[in-house]
Amino acid sequence: MQVLIVEDEPAIADTVVYALESENISCKWVTTGHDALDEIHKQKPELVLLDIGLPDRNGFDLFHSIRQICNASIVFLTSRHSEIDQVLGLELGADDYITKPFSPRVLTARVRTHLRRIQATMETPSESALLFEHDTESQRIRLRGIALDLSRYEYGVLSLLIEHPERIYSRDTLMDLVWQQSADSFDRTVDTHIKTIRKKIKAIDAELDPIKTRRGLGYAYEVPK
Ligand code: CA
Repeated sequence: MQVLIVEDEPAIADTVVYALESENISCKWVTTGHDALDEIHKQKPELVLLDIGLPDRNGFDLFHSIRQICNASIVFLTSRHSEIDQVLGLELGADDYITKPFSPRVLTARVRTHLRRIQATMETPSESALLFEHDTESQRIRLRGIALDLSRYEYGVLSLLIEHPERIYSRDTLMDLVWQQSADSFDRTVDTHIKTIRKKIKAIDAELDPIKTRRGLGYAYEVPK
């Protein structure tokens, strides 16, 4: 498991690197958006700690570029309340944010929680596979053995969510990934599709509601216990 730290202030980065390495968490530190993308191309990290004010580009901007090339969990390092508002307001679908200044202990605990979660999803894809069977070739999804009758975009949304349990997808990210350059798309489209997907799931199992709304962030598939 590899953590990539994108932070231009050496004092903060040093604290983070020291805190993580003393807990045997392997990490790599870069100071610019350019170097971050370079590093991600070379070695896909599991978790990215991302500063927002970087010398060459904005962290929000970089967030989108990172999401296009890798599946890492992304945690913003924010220094101002206005930045937190932005993280929530933009509905980027970031996995978390940590406010500066932070205590090394709190930081390490949060990083550990994320790494454990990532590890758990890597080890137990079969758990969600038991519930949903996803046949990528025929582009069909079965729930408890029953084929779901999904439209093209419903399939796009649901397949993305179930393939990445616990990952939060914002409306914007879903629009980007599922609808792509579709010109006739409206903002509420994602909500409408989530609604019909939930209905179709409930038609098979009324108790089942695995697609969760993360207020201010987006949607996530939660593997039922
Ligand atoms: Ca900075």
